[in-house]
Amino acid sequence: MKRLSDFSWERYSALGEADKAECLSRPDGMPFHTIFAGQFGRAQLDRLCDAATQIRTIAKTRAGTEFLRGLLFHKRAMIYFTQPSSRTFLSFLSACQILGISTGEVRDASVSSEFKGESREDSIRTFSSYFDLIVMRTQEKGLAERMAWSLSQSKRPVPIVNAGSGKDQHPTQALLDIYTLRRSFERRGGLEGRTVVYVGDLARGRTVRSLARLLTNYAGIRHVFVAPPQLAIGDDVLAMVRAAGQEAVTSTDMAAWLPEADAVYMTRIQDEWDESAGESARIDTSRFKIGTDEMRRMRPGAILMHPLPRRDEIAPEVDSDPRAMYWRQVRNGMWIRTALIASTFDCLSRVGEYWRDNLQ
Ligand code: ASP
Repeated sequence: MKRLSDFSWERYSALGEADKAECLSRPDGMPFHTIFAGQFGRAQLDRLCDAATQIRTIAKTRAGTEFLRGLLFHKRAMIYFTQPSSRTFLSFLSACQILGISTGEVRDASVSSEFKGESREDSIRTFSSYFDLIVMRTQEKGLAERMAWSLSQSKRPVPIVNAGSGKDQHPTQALLDIYTLRRSFERRGGLEGRTVVYVGDLARGRTVRSLARLLTNYAGIRHVFVAPPQLAIGDDVLAMVRAAGQEAVTSTDMAAWLPEADAVYMTRIQDEWDESAGESARIDTSRFKIGTDEMRRMRPGAILMHPLPRRDEIAPEVDSDPRAMYWRQVRNGMWIRTALIASTFDCLSRVGEYWRDNLQ
């Protein structure tokens, strides 16, 4: 088995996705560091989704809550979020609380020693001495991965969970999206062969990149990427989907694809990445919004998703439609993140045992 600590950064960086995934794994094949979506194959996804469902069932009783809180009460996590976030931050905080993990947080690098000229890597390495887990969200592409490697060279390789890195990856959002899709279709023939229509700022939205990668684990998915030409999906994502033997379609016509969709995945315009002032505002996004008329064009069994926060791409009137899944996604996120952290610390068997002994 390949071990991250055996590689120099240069040699590790040159590896392909599967080899990198092996370096980041625990001996049981589950991630130790969670850095990118390509670390999750079907076995890992099924294990986590099953565990999330067990955990949420266990948490319904007082005794179950106490059991969960006892699992990792001896661990401490640092939630290092230097990019704006409230929902993902609170989702991880809640996941830690469910497992009894105590937390510390860094929200603003400018009040730490980075202000005194310390490198971000040094700061995080220092903080890692106080904690057993680092959950990090940063503006900077690749920082979580570099930190995972850097800590692997130390005597105390603390696991890192990437909670959103730049424009490239948001693996735990993709996990909660898969969990939501799985729950939505599990009694209706499963996820295989479904048409997923992604809409909005696909050029800069990291959630779509990560979700498309996870969906390649399910046979026969048709991916339809709908965006204004300026915000079209990257060729790397199209190539990745096609290399997995799946159909990838690009379009600028959302209305035409709505009746075809099993799931519509809306995203907001990511104007924080604009290179010039008002760049996004000049793009006509009027045909990339969902209201009650658009919902009428969708199939009765289709679902509507959004990673949130939303702006005006989904009208509030749509919220009461039973096909609107975005609030459920939020709740599912807390459970799947709890499962992921439990897995990081090798607690899934204990969760499974408790569930079998008490709830099956
Ligand atoms: N919350 C998601 C993210 O962090 C989506 C978004 O911000 O639009 O990428």
